[in-house]
Amino acid sequence: MQNFAYVRATSVAEALRAAANGSAERSRFLAGGTTLVDLMKLGVMQAQQLIDITSVSELQTFTTTRKTELVFGALAKMSDVAADPTLLRQYPALVESLQKAASEQLRNMATVGGNLLQRTRCEYFRDTSYPCNKRSPGAGCAALEGLNRGHAMFGGSSACIATYPGDFAVALAAFDALVDAVSTRGARTIALRDLHRLPGDTPQIDTVLEPDELIVRIRVPATPLGHASTFQKIRDRESYAFATISCAAAVLVENGVVRDARIALGGVATKPWRALVAERSLLDEPLTRETAERAGRLAFADAQPLKANAFKMSLGPKTVATSLMIAKERGEK
Ligand SMILES: Cc1cc2nc3c(=O)[nH]c(=O)nc-3n(C[C@H](O)[C@H](O)[C@H](O)COP(=O)(O)OP(=O)(O)OC[C@H]3O[C@@H](n4cnc5c(N)ncnc54)[C@H](O)[C@@H]3O)c2cc1C
Ligand code: SF4
Repeated sequence: MQNFAYVRATSVAEALRAAANGSAERSRFLAGGTTLVDLMKLGVMQAQQLIDITSVSELQTFTTTRKTELVFGALAKMSDVAADPTLLRQYPALVESLQKAASEQLRNMATVGGNLLQRTRCEYFRDTSYPCNKRSPGAGCAALEGLNRGHAMFGGSSACIATYPGDFAVALAAFDALVDAVSTRGARTIALRDLHRLPGDTPQIDTVLEPDELIVRIRVPATPLGHASTFQKIRDRESYAFATISCAAAVLVENGVVRDARIALGGVATKPWRALVAERSLLDEPLTRETAERAGRLAFADAQPLKANAFKMSLGPKTVATSLMIAKERGEK
């Protein structure tokens, strides 16, 4: 049993004061707890102080009806956001990324802010009997020569090849979402694409957030791309499983040619991964099975397959191509 102090904050100001008090490194915000409590029980994460933010009502709401942007309070529940009728009609990729994540029970507890900050599911990270640089910097990486079927083909380093496991952030990356964060030093906005770090030599640091920074909201600029979008998740079983490969795709087709395209990959990279070269290959071209397959191949052209996940070199491009065709079809309705 780890001893820790428990503080219940009822406002953002109270949460920030508590985080600024004492060792910020050892304070953690507690939202739904479905990542944090799990990892504390396993001895993978530690905290001297848990700051429970679940009573901060100002962070619980979300709105999808503004003309300029969608706004999700960090404490909005995954299940509530996934059930939003406007979102379902206008941004199916966002809804699908939430609906296909975890289980109904988890989605009822888990928050969208916490979801972005979930930690890798690398088995060696979660099992303290193995060396893991992310858990214990300098210890080594058991996955490099171990079971690495679920590990990264993009963005890895010699210190860590763990994939970012979340689904929502992959869909958000496709739509150029923004994350608003605050601390006692002030507020700042971080592009979702820049929130997660590449592991490099410091895989223990997952994101650019400071330990005392609180995510207050996620914003998605309104875009007609939303309607013609999809989130495809290939996994070992049809529900309650992390992505083997996921793809968020969105397209804007006008006069028979692609004016804008978004492709973000999950399950294969150390952070939500935009396939920019593949996106550009579609511009001013008709979207056909051929151009979609070419984009799929381009999306995986720079992949670095590992011993156990080379099969994704054929599954990945197919997933991208199929996602693009589904997105296109939706745009035609
Ligand atoms: C069995 C299982 C299966 C799962 N399957 C999937 C899946 O298929 N797809 C998927 O995407 N996810 C999956 N998840 C992950 C789940 O979605 C996340 O655990 C959940 O979204 C985290 O949200 P939370 O509110 O519970 O966060 P918490 O556990 O409370 O927090 C997570 C981390 O974020 C920090 N934090 C929380 N809120 C804030 C904030 N506002 N500002 C700053 N820091 C904050 C916490 O300190 C902690 O470090 C699964 C989880 C489990 C247990
Ligand atoms: S891949 Fe990363 S998380 Fe997994 S064992 Fe290696 S260092 Fe740890």
